[in-house]
Amino acid sequence: MKHMKCSDLGGGCDFEATGEDAEEIKIALFEHAATEHPEEFNVMTDEERDAAAKKIDVFVEAQE
Ligand SMILES: [Zn+2]
Repeated sequence: MKHMKCSDLGGGCDFEATGEDAEEIKIALFEHAATEHPEEFNVMTDEERDAAAKKIDVFVEAQE
């Protein structure tokens, strides 16, 4: 099981997403950010979301 915390992505809380792969982590973390940090998430540009998605890829791929 892969995992990544909101704070690993630069977020401000200890929420931890778990999933089978980076895609599941992305869905969980983005959903979390949209729900819990809408004031930050809603002003993110597409580039910033791409960058966050890449960061999740790298972070999750490094786990085994
Ligand atoms: Zn959070």
